[in-house]
Amino acid sequence: MNATTAFQPKIAVIGYGSQGRAHALNLRDSGFDVTVGLRPGGPTEQKAKADGFKVKTPDAAVADADLVAVLTPDMVQAQLYRTVIEPHIRVGACLLFAHGFNVHYGQIAPRADLDVVLVAPKGPGALVRREYEIGRGVPAVYAVHQDSSGRAEQLALAYCGGIGGARQNAIRTTFKEETETDLFGEQAVLCGGATKLVQAGWETLVEAGYQPEIAYYECLHELKLIVDLLYEGGITRMHEFISETAQYGDLTRGPYVIDEHARAQMRKILAEIQDGTFARQWIAEYAAGNAHYKALKQADLDHPIEAVGRKLRGAMKWLDNAPKPAAKAPAPVSPQPEEAAA
Ligand code: NAD
Ligand code: MG
Repeated sequence: MNATTAFQPKIAVIGYGSQGRAHALNLRDSGFDVTVGLRPGGPTEQKAKADGFKVKTPDAAVADADLVAVLTPDMVQAQLYRTVIEPHIRVGACLLFAHGFNVHYGQIAPRADLDVVLVAPKGPGALVRREYEIGRGVPAVYAVHQDSSGRAEQLALAYCGGIGGARQNAIRTTFKEETETDLFGEQAVLCGGATKLVQAGWETLVEAGYQPEIAYYECLHELKLIVDLLYEGGITRMHEFISETAQYGDLTRGPYVIDEHARAQMRKILAEIQDGTFARQWIAEYAAGNAHYKALKQADLDHPIEAVGRKLRGAMKWLDNAPKPAAKAPAPVSPQPEEAAA
């Protein structure tokens, strides 16, 4: 299934942030008729217009589409569904999400006549666009929650191909599996795990009297070199490139850090995702104005490793040529690079 075969749904992309922009551009380049739905005067409206899209209000875009891609932040989707999508979406249309959160946790109960699918690229929007432009694509997973038309899977695969995902390997999943594994990955390993590991390692060296700059190189900068090896060829490839001393230290000392306690904490993280504790907490936090979230985020931004890193990266001339991801739309504290989102 690809974008050039048989049924060509008219697509409305609601939201033009990290994923929205990448999906809209890739789908258009794949030959789909794409309209972007945005609140007039919203923060990304000018960007979508500058990229040459027809921009309509969300209700008008929804009313005019065969497939509606909901690419606003997760925490605004339930209200958006109730107030804009459900009243305007065509009977029998397809509702598409890039993350299963709201459907899986019962925040959105889609109308019975709709097809409801998930297409989740396993990468931030800027990468989804960049990989498409160079003829590759990031892996994507897809799922069908509700198949009212009998062609829900076909639509999900067409969309997946349109954003460049199917060129690689589109793996079928479920809303439950995508939601729970995505949350676990970003909490325990990718975002929460990795950054807290970096900060704790840096603090350990600095507390022991080593130079903060040296600690930065050892605990943050060099992580990229290791991650690149893991990405290219797994742990096997890392072992091929690091010294025997590094390997012996890895194999004997890694388990000091990721010990039985750390594993028990990972199981706790997963249990709180599975039983809905995390989702309820996040929804309540958002509804109450995000005071706790903002304070925690500010502490991350104010961590002393950030000042050290800004100074050292200032001398890394090659970073000037690194692709600059667009700042994320209205960030609760201050703009964050979308590359940082999972
Ligand atoms: P984002 O914060 O980057 O962008 C959100 C967009 O929605 C902006 O254009 C914003 O102006 C618009 N918006 C906000 N409120 C709106 C409203 N009420 N009505 C209309 N538009 C509104 O969001 P994102 O990070 O791209 O996330 C979108 C979806 O993609 C989420 O479901 C997320 O879980 C999923 N996802 C994100 C990533 C990622 O790397 N960022 C990866 C995979 C899946
Ligand atoms: Mg995620």
